[in-house]
Amino acid sequence: PGPVCKNVLDVIIIMDEQKNYLYVSPSSKEVFEFDYENMNDYEAYFNIHPDYVPLLNESYESTLTTGEPFDIDVQAHHSVRGWIWTKILGKAVYDDDQKFKHMFLIARDISKEKERENELKFYAYHDSLTNIPNRRYLRENLLQQIQHFNNTGIPFAIALLDIDDFKNINDSYGHEIGDAIIQEFASRLQQLVIDKGIVARLGGDEFVLLLDDLNIVNNIHHFEQLIHQSMQAPFTVQATHLNVTTSIGITLCDRKGLTNSLIFQTVDKALYEGKQNGKNKTVINIIKD
Ligand code: GH3
Ligand code: MG
Repeated sequence: PGPVCKNVLDVIIIMDEQKNYLYVSPSSKEVFEFDYENMNDYEAYFNIHPDYVPLLNESYESTLTTGEPFDIDVQAHHSVRGWIWTKILGKAVYDDDQKFKHMFLIARDISKEKERENELKFYAYHDSLTNIPNRRYLRENLLQQIQHFNNTGIPFAIALLDIDDFKNINDSYGHEIGDAIIQEFASRLQQLVIDKGIVARLGGDEFVLLLDDLNIVNNIHHFEQLIHQSMQAPFTVQATHLNVTTSIGITLCDRKGLTNSLIFQTVDKALYEGKQNGKNKTVINIIKD
């Protein structure tokens, strides 16, 4: 095939009412690494992931009865790459007497589009520098946490962290090292909260921990020490050793009917107090009846 055929990523398939293969285009060799000859030996949907067979079958049947074309995304088998996302378009073809002749199908490899789509979905809720949850993720999670408290009365805690004098780090060592510190900071926090809550980056050098583990909530002073401890080891970036301190505001949420903004205001106040009191400090406040 000449260059014109190179970008043809559509496989054309023609099936009859009993779902026997009447024709499969040679492009299946390129798209699915699949030998399209001797199709008589194959059962309908043989290369479709079992999870998607019902959907495909329903679509096929519905098009047979209504004549409305279908357009679905399924996983189909590629001989080398395994399951790949595939768009299948189906259209019933009729003869001059309006009698069903065959089903005309197009199968298209859409794995790249799916990858991009998943990436977009991921970065709608994650921070691109650290790959941890972002502000939007946190907001939605906090709403759930409030709801959970309203239903169960189980308290939770939120910690707001802001690296001390981070501007100096940027100014002295450059933005790139600053970025690396933020990444390392995020990963230390992540290790601290595994199974105990979430960590999110609000932006800049600001992070939030949302803690729903009762052991932690009831021993918040102990946990606060753990945070400081985990930050004590120097941050090593490109053979540069840096000591980083952080100020922390913590709010224990123990009241029904809270809102995101009240919680943020309260924890912000705690952090601000810590900064005012000479930094590298933790201030804890409680919202309760
Ligand atoms: P403070 O002790 O009061 O927290 O002061 P600070 O110097 O840490 O300043 P502040 O927290 O108010 O501001 C954080 C600074 O972080 C502002 C900005 O220059 C820098 N910054 C924000 N986002 C990024 C980023 O993605 N990468 C890097 N390297 N720096 C960032
Ligand atoms: Mg700061």
